[in-house]
Amino acid sequence: MAETEVQEFARPTVEVNTYKKANTLKAKVLENRILFRDGDENDVRHIVLDAKEMNYLDGQSVGVIPPGLNEKGNPHAVRLYSIASLASRMPHSENLTLCVKRAITKDEATGQVYRGVASNFLCDSKPGDEVTLTGPAGRKFLLPVESEIHRPYIFIATGTGIAPFRGFLQRLFKHTPNFHSPVFLLFGVKTRAELLYDEEFRAYQHSNFFYFQALSREMKNKAGGRYYVGDIKHDHPGKLWPVISDERAIIYMCGLKGMEEGVRNAINTLAEHHGKGANYYESIGHRIVEEVY
Ligand SMILES: Cc1cc2nc3c(=O)[nH]c(=O)nc-3n(C[C@H](O)[C@H](O)[C@H](O)COP(=O)(O)OP(=O)(O)OC[C@H]3O[C@@H](n4cnc5c(N)ncnc54)[C@H](O)[C@@H]3O)c2cc1C
Repeated sequence: MAETEVQEFARPTVEVNTYKKANTLKAKVLENRILFRDGDENDVRHIVLDAKEMNYLDGQSVGVIPPGLNEKGNPHAVRLYSIASLASRMPHSENLTLCVKRAITKDEATGQVYRGVASNFLCDSKPGDEVTLTGPAGRKFLLPVESEIHRPYIFIATGTGIAPFRGFLQRLFKHTPNFHSPVFLLFGVKTRAELLYDEEFRAYQHSNFFYFQALSREMKNKAGGRYYVGDIKHDHPGKLWPVISDERAIIYMCGLKGMEEGVRNAINTLAEHHGKGANYYESIGHRIVEEVY
């Protein structure tokens, strides 16, 4: 079959940008709690917003317009954040939840510190504060339609890239009757303390759930270097390859730009080992869904 004829899985039809810059949704902060903190300014927050009017699916993102004006005197640009909660229409859905890392950059040469506008606003917000939203955004990073949902999944996350998978796991394990397909969650961060929602994930007592962590500063790969998500292939090839090579399986990855390279190499290495071509990853592009930022 020619590459262009390969069918992607069927995604639900979604509404996007029902709220736009000219017609935003003002949402109140309901909760802001620390998920990870190291020192005063290195933190990741779980932020819950009262945004019931917005109709979104888990995996979509929302836009946040920070208050105030930029250096040119114009309103700030929209920043996107993945939704970390279940689809709004699901029964028992939490309110719209974000998982936000405070962005701070230090210029080592001058000592100048730059604070990211939206992430610092969100991380410093208090219950009752107003957040201006657009969205929802995104038509691709979605689970398949209900009739196709019983498939194997590999979810690969780095850092706050875990956000959409929190909603996906809730949906599969709590809201999909008789869900028995294998689900792999491969989560890469620097240290154990940064494993966001670790307890929540460990609480999933499903024999078909496999949760592996890559702690780049605390684990060593086979070559003695830092251990990244792509290195998980060495430790669990017997489990991973049958799923990766299953034509029904969907591989989602979300997180830091650059992670896709490591994942591609890892999958191609496994594929070569199993007698597939060196460009196996490219041949399964129709069942790989990426969101990197
Ligand atoms: C689809 C998508 C989903 C996303 N999901 C999430 C998510 O779930 N969680 C999350 O935390 N983020 C997420 N992001 C990233 C998010 O959109 C923002 O990019 C991020 O929070 C930084 O925005 P900011 O306004 O805080 O920083 P900005 O103000 O936009 O600044 C960007 C960076 O530049 C630095 N900086 C600013 N000015 C200077 C300067 N003059 N010199 C040098 N450096 C400077 C800042 O410190 C910051 O690190 C997502 C992005 C996309 C595209």
